[in-house]
Amino acid sequence: MTTTTYGIAVIPGDGIGQEVTPAALEVLDAAARRHGVAFTRTTYDWSCATYLREGAMMPPDGLDRLRGHDAIFLGAVGAPGVPDHVSLWGLLIPIRRAFRQYVNLRPVRVFEGVPSPLRGVRAGEVDLVVVRENTEGEYSEIGGRLNRGFPDEMAVQEAVFTRPGVTRIVDYAFTLAGTRRGRLTSATKSNGIVHTLPFWDEIVAERAAAYPGVTWDQEHIDALCAKLVLDPARFDVIVGSNLFGDILSDLAAAVAGSIGIAPSANLNPERDFPSMFEPVHGSAPDIAGRGVADPIGAIWSAAMMLEHLGHPRPAAEIVEAVAAVLATTDTRTPDLGGSATTSEFTEAVLSRL
Ligand code: ATP
Ligand code: MG
Repeated sequence: MTTTTYGIAVIPGDGIGQEVTPAALEVLDAAARRHGVAFTRTTYDWSCATYLREGAMMPPDGLDRLRGHDAIFLGAVGAPGVPDHVSLWGLLIPIRRAFRQYVNLRPVRVFEGVPSPLRGVRAGEVDLVVVRENTEGEYSEIGGRLNRGFPDEMAVQEAVFTRPGVTRIVDYAFTLAGTRRGRLTSATKSNGIVHTLPFWDEIVAERAAAYPGVTWDQEHIDALCAKLVLDPARFDVIVGSNLFGDILSDLAAAVAGSIGIAPSANLNPERDFPSMFEPVHGSAPDIAGRGVADPIGAIWSAAMMLEHLGHPRPAAEIVEAVAAVLATTDTRTPDLGGSATTSEFTEAVLSRL
């Protein structure tokens, strides 16, 4: 069998990022090997620890060092005493923007053997993907503060929605829905937000014509949040702006039972730059260093990386191995009510593979 080799950049980051990253890469290698796929890794120690030592999350030429890789795998960045905006604006947002990773994909499943916090949600029923616009929208730097400290103090923040930016995320979501159960829900709030979201809605309706096989609807974000809690099984693909997608994906991950199992991909669909794969959770300093972090979010993110690189079979095998361990054994980490360590769970997945 000929071997296809990919070069990946690995940024384990801080806290439990250091623990779940090796676990995920071990599973990745094992699944890939059987399909003639291999990885060479370059590890970068960029993190909040680096920031505290050297004053920057990554070196000035950091983006140039990453750009030649086939993909980027990130553990988690964050540390007590380092404000979130440091890791966001010092690492994550520059990577997402420079590499045009305009799709943030967050699949959510309720696995058998993992109780959802919601009454009445049965394993296997919930299988949805949140598609979040990742480069524009509400997270813009345009705006400012006026009259600081005076009674008329004010803050203005502009949201930026562009026709190409909305069109490409909406097209991505319709296409994805077409490969799944053929249902798309668009998150909006065009009853209260008078410029940007009516524009979003218009583009969704226009693009829908190109995807006759997909049934779509739109929901205001408030009602959508309520429905995600009351009846998550009704959803297949949900597309939302940067802010709405952020909120929906955390809500949906919580419905699935633990933030520790949620994966994510920051995709550059054109593939002119590397995409980045990372668990949704942060560095979790409260449990870091104890070897009990749940590696599922990282393992599943590695599977998404394999799929993106064009290898859906080993990717599916990884997710099914995780599902089988959860469904048929008691091996699970404390966040899921078990007593297994990170490496015990990882071993169980490896032997299942
Ligand atoms: P950061 O500042 O990097 O965002 P955080 O403390 O906010 O770190 P989160 O990842 O947001 O960490 O998680 C919140 C809590 O959820 C953690 O403190 C931890 O208790 C729990 N948690 C998160 N990820 C995991 C995991 N993989 N396994 C087990 N528990 C986790
Ligand atoms: Mg956090």
